[in-house]
Parts: sequence; C-alpha cells; structure tokens
Amino acid sequence: MKQNLDWANLPFGYMKTNYNVRCYYRDGKWGELEVSSSEYLTVHMAATGLHYGQEAFEGLKAFKGKDSKVRVFRWEENAKRLQNSAKGVMMAEVSDELFKKAMDKVIELNADFVPPYESGASLYIRPLLFGSGAQVGVKPASEYTFIMFVTPVGPYFKEGFKPVNMLITREYDRAAPLGTGHLKVGGNYAASLRSIDKAHHLNFANVLYLDAKEKKYIDECGPANFFAIKGNTYITPESKSILPSITNMSLLQLAKDLGLTVERRPVLETELGGFDEVGACGTAAVISPIREIVDMQNNIKYEYCKDGQAGEVSTKLYNKLRAIQYGDEPDTHNWVSVIM
Ligand SMILES: *Cc1c(COP(=O)(O)O)cnc(C)c1O
Repeated sequence: MKQNLDWANLPFGYMKTNYNVRCYYRDGKWGELEVSSSEYLTVHMAATGLHYGQEAFEGLKAFKGKDSKVRVFRWEENAKRLQNSAKGVMMAEVSDELFKKAMDKVIELNADFVPPYESGASLYIRPLLFGSGAQVGVKPASEYTFIMFVTPVGPYFKEGFKPVNMLITREYDRAAPLGTGHLKVGGNYAASLRSIDKAHHLNFANVLYLDAKEKKYIDECGPANFFAIKGNTYITPESKSILPSITNMSLLQLAKDLGLTVERRPVLETELGGFDEVGACGTAAVISPIREIVDMQNNIKYEYCKDGQAGEVSTKLYNKLRAIQYGDEPDTHNWVSVIM
C-alpha cells in the first residue's frame, strides 16, 4: 500500500512500518529468519542484554534514486562492525550472509516506506543484537536475538546546512581508554546521556569529548566522529576509544580523491584554533558543520563558519557523498548495493 507521508518533513525518529525481521541463536547456531508485524519482543527477565549490557546495534540507510532503484550504502562495513562489536562483548556473531538476508527482506517488506528521491529523505535501517539468554552470574548468554527494523527519516538539513555548536566538558567521559568506545554498544550511549543532556541545557547541539586519560586530545563528537580541514589536509583523530565511522572512512577517501592530504592521528585540543573547517560526521547527517566549540573550564571559544555558511571543502565532500548514495554520481569505489 502506497504511504502518503510528508517525507520531506519527517524527523529523525521512530515510525511504525509494516514488518521487522528476527533471528534467534540457540544451541550454538542461528535459526531461520522470521518475519514479524509486532513492534514488541517477549524477553526473558534475566536476559544478559538487559542486565549486563550484552548488546550492540548498527545504523545504515537505503536511498531511492532518480531511477527508482533502492541503494544501500556500504552495508558490508556495517556487518563487519557488528561482528566486531559482537566479539567485543562476547556475543554470537551475525555472518555477512545473515545480515544481508535480513536487510534485503526488511527493505523488501517495507518497500512502501522508502522515501521518494525528490524528498531528500531515506530509509534508516537499525540492526540490533543482544544476549537474550538468562544468566545471573556475569558471563555471556548462550542465546542471542538479532533484529532488523526500518523507519523512514527526513533529510537532516531541510534548508541547506545549519552549522552547530559543541561543548567541551571535562566532567564526563563517554568511554574509557581501553573500554568499549570502539564498539557500537549501548553502554557507551548510556554513559553519554548526562553530558549530552547538559550540553542541550546550555544550548549546545552536542558534546565534543576529549580523551579520557589526559583530557588533551579530541575524541568523538557526541555520537559522531570529528574531522577538520586545514589548508589542503583532511584531519581526523586516532584513538582506541573512537567508534570507527563508516561515513568518516568514506569522507577520507573522497578527500583523497579531491587531491587533499589525509591524516588520521591524535589531534590536540590546542590545534582547534588553527583549523579552517571542522565538522561531525555519521550516517544520520553525513556532515554537521561546526561553527563554534566552547571549552567552558578554560574559557576558550573556537569559531568557524564566520559567514554563517559551512566551509567549502565540507560542502563539497557532503554533496559528493550524497550524490553517490542516491546514485546521481558514479560509484567508483563500489560502495553502493542496489537492493531493488
Ligand atoms: C554510529 C556512530 C558513529 C557514526 O558511524 P557511521 O558508520 O558513520 O554512521 C560515530 N560515533 C559513534 C559513537 C557511533 O555510535
């Protein structure tokens, strides 16, 4: 049934669709993929996902092109990252094959919810994996649940880029130096909620985290990676507690294609004053240009986008990546898979 939604004005939020898909790991193996029209789960009250944070998730998008084909961006990287997260918190791994099968099925079953090309909206895909077996002692579960659901999301920037502001705070850390920051697990998000709430109360879009140990280096930018442009160089921090963003990895490649030098290395906070453009990157927005970073404790303000506009290089990278995702420009790196 054709959906009559105001696609261009959808928020980045949850909306009920037709179906989701589920798979259960029991007795040492994954069962058959199941289709459900329920938004609810029946979960054992002693499931490790609930008590001990044995949980990981992913986020990727499907885009409808001018040619009406539906494309997914670099799903193999999401599958790989979910496998890595599963290893990191000792869960059963979801193979590339199972991931792809679930993804094809959930998109196909919700084809009416893939937003039209003109809207600039997309279909957000949320894979979720958690320990569903009962356990009271602290050890990995013997049963796992893998779910994939979708929800249509509007274009992040409706009237072009809106540069945002970021707060540096030393009161909270998102992830420990040798903790789980490099895994896409729920616990990192729980740990970030208080600092993000504080940033929102002070009218900031998000928090720019410093490294937990020395509070000298740039780590992550809320639930997104940080990058900077300095002259002809694309710079992004290297740290064990950063989640490897697929968007960042792609922008880095596109920067190279544009002839920029790329650097992935520890980035000092004190370098912030010398950057021409800075931004946050991730699947949701691709790029959120940053206009201001405030280090409250040290009473420092770093400013960018002086004319209120996003920087030239950030804009170029953003347009290029979006064009590849929607099939408007050649996919020279083989990043896109046509699903339908
Ligand atoms: C998901 C996520 C990102 C962005 O990763 P993408 O693959 O680009 O969507 C960045 N940081 C954190 C903490 C994340 O969870």
